[in-house]
Amino acid sequence: MSARIIDGKAVAARCRAELKARTEELKGEGITPGLAVILVGEDPASQVYVRNKHKACDELGIHSEQYTLPGNTSREELLSLIAELNGREEIDGILVQLPLPGHLDQKEILSAIDPAKDVDAFHPQNVGRIVIGDYFFAPCTPSGILTLIDSTGVDMTGKECVIIGRSNIVGKPMALLALHRNATVTVCHSKTRNLPEVTRRADILISAVGKAGFVTGEMVKPGAVVIDVGMNRNAAGKLCGDVDFESVSPAPVPGGVGPMTITMLLRSTVLSARNRRKKA
Ligand code: NAP
Repeated sequence: MSARIIDGKAVAARCRAELKARTEELKGEGITPGLAVILVGEDPASQVYVRNKHKACDELGIHSEQYTLPGNTSREELLSLIAELNGREEIDGILVQLPLPGHLDQKEILSAIDPAKDVDAFHPQNVGRIVIGDYFFAPCTPSGILTLIDSTGVDMTGKECVIIGRSNIVGKPMALLALHRNATVTVCHSKTRNLPEVTRRADILISAVGKAGFVTGEMVKPGAVVIDVGMNRNAAGKLCGDVDFESVSPAPVPGGVGPMTITMLLRSTVLSARNRRKKA
């Protein structure tokens, strides 16, 4: 099945150029947006993500601070760092890289971030605001996906949008954002029956499963927009998405959703700086 490839890197580059201009404007007013990223433990994939975020901030002129804490960091130590960052005026965004080591309660840690600095939108208050459609921060991966879909010129209104995956990070918030765009949304998961029948209805198919080669050509309606969120290693150790590229051709991984996720984080940080400090 032939499909148009969305060039995620090009879309991200365009967004970052706009953000750089906005950052320079803010700097002209004496405001340098600031992001703090906290990494607990030595998960190699998380180390790469955090490094990429730091590099992207540098390229845009956003101030970034990276806190790399040992895997045995206590709840009290982590909460105290978050409290310190909450109180610092020049820090506009705080991101705790997930997953956290098992002895730390993810819900408690994410709830400790000041909602006004919660650039990943995982604080329960921000999650609730997304549910009712009155939100300032949106989670970075789903909002990056929306920007990719917008880049195709496809209007989501009335379209069948099928999402495979129901995680709190991708699937669920994606479903809400698509609903706010007036799509008809179906969320699939491991208990969904007749998955290919459901996915074939999709005008927009978003796969966030985490299994290489999971989505094949016969699961996709001709002409559908396919977004591949998955980040997997294939048998040869090569980075790949969920979608069987040969039979479907969606936004390629790497180069699809990943660069957009980081771009949305930068956008939230710049928006936060403008919102918090211009008000002040
Ligand atoms: P997750 O929490 O593991 O969720 C995976 C989802 O896939 C679950 O809802 C699961 O269903 C569903 N699933 C598993 N097997 C299935 C099957 N056979 N049929 C239908 N659904 C099935 O993962 P996540 O955090 O959402 O991440 C998903 C993927 O996206 C991963 O590869 C991750 O690395 C990647 N990711 C990429 C970015 C990026 O920036 N590019 C950002 C975040 C995540 P159940 O709920 O029933 O178990």
